[in-house]
Order: sequence, then C-alpha cells, then structure tokens
Amino acid sequence: MTNDISFNFETRTVMLNSGYEMPIYGIGTYSLTGETCVESITAALNSGVRLIDTAYMYHNEESVGEAVRNSGIPREEIFVITKLYPNQFSNPEEAIEEALNKLDIDYIDMMLLHHPGTGDVEAYLAMEKAVADRKIRSIGLSNWYIEELEEFLPQVNITPALVQNEIHPYYQENDVIPYIQSRGIVVQGWYPLGGRGHTAELLGDEVISEIAAAHGKSSAQVILRWNLQKGVVVIPGSSNPEHIQENTELFDFELTAKEMERINALDRGEKHDWY
Ligand code: NAP
Repeated sequence: MTNDISFNFETRTVMLNSGYEMPIYGIGTYSLTGETCVESITAALNSGVRLIDTAYMYHNEESVGEAVRNSGIPREEIFVITKLYPNQFSNPEEAIEEALNKLDIDYIDMMLLHHPGTGDVEAYLAMEKAVADRKIRSIGLSNWYIEELEEFLPQVNITPALVQNEIHPYYQENDVIPYIQSRGIVVQGWYPLGGRGHTAELLGDEVISEIAAAHGKSSAQVILRWNLQKGVVVIPGSSNPEHIQENTELFDFELTAKEMERINALDRGEKHDWY
C-alpha cells in the first residue's frame, strides 16, 4: 500500500513518504540572489511561508541560509529544498557537504537531483547515505518523467518523496502527475506562473482572468489554487512583497469542478524550459 499524499488544507501540509510533513505552498528562489534573495525570503517568512526552494545552480544557498537563520523562526518550522546539479554528480559526497556548509542550517529538509545526467544513480545513492547520516531528511528528483522514473526507480533503495517538474496551465503533465502520485510520491510544480517572460500571457489568459474575477481573486491565486486542488505543491518565485503575500492567500476560496475543467482545457503541451 502506498502512503496517503492527499493535502491537508487545515494544516496546509502534506505527509511525505519519508515521514516528514511539508508545506503545500512556498517560495521559489530561482534568479533571486544576494540581498534581494534575503529580503524576499524574509518577506515570505513574514507572510507565513514555511517552504523555500533553492538549488546549487541558483547561487543563493548562502542567502537562503542567512534569511532562515535570522528569521527567529524555529528551524523545525521551516522546510528547505535544495538540489544537486548534474555537474556535481561525479562527486556527490562533496556536493552534499558544500550544500550543508553554504546553507548552514543544521540539516537539509529535502535534496533533489536537478535533472537526469551521467552519474545520477550514484548521486542519489550518496543522498541516501546522507539520509542515514541524518544530514538530509528527505530526497527526491526534479525533471524526471515516466520513462526516466521507470528506469531509475529500480536502481535505488529509497523511493523519492517528491518529484519537482514544470507544471502550469499551458504545460500540465496530465499523464505524468497521476503516474507519480499513484506511487505515493508528492508532485511539486516549477514555473507555476509560466516562468519569467511568460507570466503576462498566462496571467492575462481570458479563461483564468474570468475565473479570477468570479472569485474576487487574482489570476496568480487562481493558478496556484488550481495546482493545490490537483494535489500539486506550488513554489512561485517573487521578489515583490505584495505578490509574495498574495501568493499565500489561497485558502479562502475553492474552484468548482467546472472551473478546474476549464483550466485543464488550456493545456497546450507548451514547455517554457528545456529540462
Ligand atoms: P514563476 O513562479 O512561474 O514566475 C515568477 C514570476 O512571476 C516573477 O517574474 C514574479 O515577478 C512573477 N509573480 C510572482 N507572483 C506574482 C503575482 N502574484 N502576480 C504577478 N506576478 C507574479 O517562475 P520561477 O520563479 O522561475 O519558478 C518558480 C520556482 O520553481 C523557481 O523560483 C525555482 O525555485 C523553481 N524552479 C525549478 C526548476 C527545476 O528545474 N527544478 C526550474 C525552474 C524553476 P515579481 O518578482 O515581480 O513578483
């Protein structure tokens, strides 16, 4: 029997197969560096966000750690995800230590492999070892689809707790999401608002704008809520405190089955990045 990964909308968390609870909404930090990153995370934490997504490749793990340490919020209440990049797979032990040192927050809540690459199985096995050593609590994958998972999963011991893939109304992964979820693995979407350069079109979409107006919410909130109702965790990126606050106000309305269907019908299979 697989574990239950249905979202708890009261606590706003999901129970991972690793036994740890993770918030179902957070902030993504791609393209946020230095002071902007610290300020954005501080604003997010002040708005009640407790899930932060970073990666080696974002060059901001130090800033994420600084904001977490300086927040005054107990470490246990914050959930930090980081990722190893394929150019680190040849020496994963060192890469894990590097992430721990840069973040400097005692332990890593979740570490993912950023996308498939040479040495990914070995890198994953090194993450498994770090779980045993209590340096990392949960592990998972990013940019793994059905074929890649079919090949990868038999080669590892710990079932990933999370798979993080590109998901937005124009790229919905309607085949991949149920495949992953049926294995008790939580799905998290990146580029929930389409990603930089694409947000205007997505937020201005006629169907989404109409649904937003009907609920007195913004297009961003409707898209994030659509994800949550599909059981997909959201990590919108923002450096604007007003947007950061807005992106947390997702629990005072509910999309109807008809509205969900209308957004589902917007799928174009249009990827906004190459992973
Ligand atoms: P995104 O969340 O789809 O969009 C971010 C853009 O949306 C920013 O320009 C932001 O501008 C704007 N925005 C945010 N909230 C808004 C709101 N309420 N109203 C209007 N505009 C709003 O793109 P992303 O940040 O690139 O992706 C999300 C996260 O996914 C990343 O930060 C990263 O953590 C993760 N990611 C992972 C991968 C992977 O391969 N695993 C790849 C890409 C991204 P403002 O700053 O002005 O708010």
